[in-house]
Parts: sequence; C-alpha cells; structure tokens
Amino acid sequence: TVHDYQAPKDLLTDKVILVTGAGDGIGRQAALTFAEHGATVILLGRTVDKLEAVYDEIEQAGGAKPAIIPLDLKGATLDHYQGMAATIKEQFGRLDGVLHNAGILSILSPYTHIEADDFNDAMQINVTGPMLMTQALLPVMQLADNASLVFTSSGVGRKGRAYWGSYAISKFATEGMAQVIADEYETTSVRTNVINPGATRTSMRAKAYPAEDPKALKTPLDLMPTYLYLMGDESKKDNNLCFDAQ
Ligand code: NDP
Repeated sequence: TVHDYQAPKDLLTDKVILVTGAGDGIGRQAALTFAEHGATVILLGRTVDKLEAVYDEIEQAGGAKPAIIPLDLKGATLDHYQGMAATIKEQFGRLDGVLHNAGILSILSPYTHIEADDFNDAMQINVTGPMLMTQALLPVMQLADNASLVFTSSGVGRKGRAYWGSYAISKFATEGMAQVIADEYETTSVRTNVINPGATRTSMRAKAYPAEDPKALKTPLDLMPTYLYLMGDESKKDNNLCFDAQ
C-alpha cells in the first residue's frame, strides 16, 4: 500500500511544489520531506517567522533553495493569487505540485450555536481561498509535464459528525471541489486527489481533543509515504481518488 511506499531520495528532483500552511503541523513536515527528496518548495502561510524557520531548516539540510509566500487565506483575493501565479511562472516556468494543507478547525459547538462569522471564516480559509488559488495556479500547473494537485480532507469530510459544524461542512466542500477539478482535468497532465491525514499529532488535533495523550497519535512524519507517493510521478495515473494517510 501507499502507507509503506518507500520513496527514492531523488523522487522530487526538479519538481517545484507549493505547500500551503507550510509553517506548522503536517504542512511543515511535508515541506521538509519534499525538499529532502529533491523538490524546490514554495512555502505559503500566514506566520512569516514559522515559514522562515522551515526555510532555514531546508537550507541547513542542503535542500534546494525554497521560496516563501506570506499570505493569509482569510483576506486574500483573486488578485493575490494571480500575482502569486505570475511570480511562480516567471521564477520557475511551471508548477509541478500543490498541496492544499492550510486549514482551520474553527469552533466545535452545538449546531444551533454556529455563528455566521465563524462559519464564513472557516469557509473562506478552507474552501474559498483554495478555490481561487487553484483557479490562478492551474494554468501554471499545465506547463509541467505531470502536475499533482492534492487537497486535504478529514474523516468528517466524508461522514458528518455532531458538533463538528463549520469544519465538517468545509471539508465536504473541499472533497466536492477536488472531484469537480479532477473530472474536468481528467484528460490533461494535471491530476487531482484528496488526502485524509487521520488523527495526527499537531496543534489542531490537540485543540479538538484536549484530553487526549498526543503521544498515542501518529506524527506528521508517519504520514509522509502517502504524501510523497502523491507528489511523485509514480502516482501520475491516479486521479479523483481519496487516500487515507494512515
Ligand atoms: P495545524 O493547525 O498544525 O497547521 C495548520 C497550518 O495552516 C498552519 O501552518 C497555519 O498557519 C496554516 N493556516 C491556518 N490558517 C491559515 C490562513 N488563514 N492563511 C494561511 N495559512 C493558514 O494543522 P494540521 O497540521 O493538523 O492540519 C493540516 C491539514 O490537515 C488541515 O487541512 C487539517 O484540516 C487537516 N487534518 C488534520 C488532522 C489532524 O489530526 N491533525 C486530521 C484530519 C485533517 P499558522 O501556523 O500561522 O497558524
């Protein structure tokens, strides 16, 4: 299975891969791991300090020089995404991979307590931002020989669960978006798939399950075989699939 996929060290050599939410949690680990396998990573996120720390870690490990895009998905508009796409095209000539990983948990609450502002923030950051970003990036992805577009879902994006309100709704929307793009681009060089990380030791998980022992959870590093498989050319025939990383 992809869980024990053993990626060759040079799997991603010559690939340019954008990771959103690259400063922390799963996105941070994915950026480090992609760089370790030869990729030039573009680190996108809202907290510049964290992105700089990942940048330094990649440079110290001898990885290809990364790029940083400081961007808060909450306020970003299509203009920001088009500007970013133009810069990537100019600097690298194409984009081989995008990992949509940034996301917020929003607030867990009884359904009748969901507040419109919180709901809108979750939809903006988890759905609208990635939607507009993907619109801008698809033409640059089509310049690559094979490009991989990966969205991040959740168990509650497949089956709704009490009290998970905005987050669960946003993850269903994410899966819908991935399916629409996958179907529309089926005959092109861009493939689109979804990852469900499963319970993973990050600050988002700790916020959702404050009483849980984090040491009992898989770490972001444990998930990387699936992430590597999807970014590498060995998955180039996979389209419109959902992968559980655990
Ligand atoms: P974390 O909260 O640890 O990391 C999320 C990352 O997204 C952070 O780097 C954060 O930036 C960034 N981010 C959040 N909001 C914005 C924004 N408005 N603009 C730009 N960047 C933003 O979460 P995880 O690593 O746990 O989660 C990663 C993905 O995996 C998410 O999509 C999540 O829904 C999904 N997932 C996680 C599971 C888990 O158990 N951990 C289970 C199922 C799904 P900053 O550091 O600046 O806050």
